Amino acid sequence: MKLVNPANKRKHTLIVVGSGLAGGAAAATLGELGYHVKCFCYQDSPRRAHSIAAQGGINAAKNYQNDGDSIHRLFYDTVKGGDFRSRESNVHRLAEISVNIIDQCVAQGVPFAREYGGLLDNRSFGGAQVSRTFYARGQTGQQLLLGAYQALSKQIHAGQVKMYPRTEMMDLVVIDGRARGIVVRNMVTGEVNVELGDAVLLASGGYGNVFYLSTNAKGCNVMASWRAHRRGAFMANPCYTQIHPTCIPVSGDYQSKLTLMSESLRNDGRV
Ligand SMILES: Cc1cc2nc3c(=O)[nH]c(=O)nc-3n(C[C@H](O)[C@H](O)[C@H](O)COP(=O)(O)OP(=O)(O)OC[C@H]3O[C@@H](n4cnc5c(N)ncnc54)[C@H](O)[C@@H]3O)c2cc1C
Repeated sequence: MKLVNPANKRKHTLIVVGSGLAGGAAAATLGELGYHVKCFCYQDSPRRAHSIAAQGGINAAKNYQNDGDSIHRLFYDTVKGGDFRSRESNVHRLAEISVNIIDQCVAQGVPFAREYGGLLDNRSFGGAQVSRTFYARGQTGQQLLLGAYQALSKQIHAGQVKMYPRTEMMDLVVIDGRARGIVVRNMVTGEVNVELGDAVLLASGGYGNVFYLSTNAKGCNVMASWRAHRRGAFMANPCYTQIHPTCIPVSGDYQSKLTLMSESLRNDGRV
């Protein structure tokens, strides 16, 4: 869509598929901007999105520790962590907005860990040279999701967002080359409907279950994005699917990280 004047936003209806950290926050923000939003998820509540499983924390180049962090350093660490295969413009944007995301989450009520004096705490996370990970014990994803859900609930209550839980996107409606709606199935009654809007935002999450072994929830399949792809949407970097190596059994001596993970688990008695 082209840029929309603030006074005209209320004339547009946007469809958001997914209500995890990506979809939930997007639907809430678009609702707050004045758009009418229809938000879909297949769980019974947005709070059950797989985002709830994330544990470690979220990186931001705020340089609170004064240990030389910067947007460029976060950009570089992330590109290097992605084996120099990530799309650099996207990573740079991520590094730029990382600084504001933390403030947005705090404003939404996320209880990040704090130091004794009350300032936000940081820890150093894998692949980083500096201490820049904001966290909430071992349940950062859950706390972030509850924050996004609070913001989403506020917009649902204000009538800006209509939530469709237990509703599965089955196909994309394309009119004149533009995504204008989705075909959905009510997972309780089985009824199939078409929902129309001015734009469709896909925030349907990861799809680890296309692989034989995965620790992802069973619903993390590729249906929404695959159906959109079949209607002409581009699909990039399908190999960038998060795996947790702990779910992969050892099968040889040359597994590098997998062997490392299995060894460390064996050493601390978990396998
Ligand atoms: C165990 C684990 C630990 C992690 N730890 C970290 C960490 O420490 N730091 C970090 O930054 N990231 C971490 N991640 C990654 C991060 O949690 C995810 O990348 C992020 O939460 C994904 O959010 P999302 O909104 O895109 O997807 P999800 O939360 O999976 O949401 C997808 C949404 O789409 C909906 N949906 C999907 N298909 C359909 C359909 N066909 N029709 C209707 N709705 C549909 C679902 O109902 C859901 O609401 C971790 C992930 C896991 C699994």
